[in-house]
Amino acid sequence: MASPNWDSITEASLYIHYWADRTFPGRVPERALSKLVMEEIPELLQHRKERGVDSIAGELADCFILLMDLAICWNVDLSQAIRDKMRINERRMWQKDEATGHYHHGIELHVESEGGHCD
Ligand SMILES: [Mg+2]
Repeated sequence: MASPNWDSITEASLYIHYWADRTFPGRVPERALSKLVMEEIPELLQHRKERGVDSIAGELADCFILLMDLAICWNVDLSQAIRDKMRINERRMWQKDEATGHYHHGIELHVESEGGHCD
């Protein structure tokens, strides 16, 4: 397969998916998701903590590679899903939990018919 347009989420995801098909025959999407959560995200956190933000590109890419493959496995148009979700996120009010430093959304500012079910 020819090298994709890496600036296109869809083209890059398809390229990664076909590469994963060839490289990891019989892979199970749920196992790829658990690999992301149990191995790749901890690696990202560890690299960030031990080596700093300048050395996390490869680990960040590992996470995205798994997510992009999963999007194809599960027939999700990731580019459209991101656009749709950002439209929702941009309308939400976000509040910081001072105990954790995490932001959580509260009320929607203006909600039009979404037709989706994002959390
Ligand atoms: Mg990794």
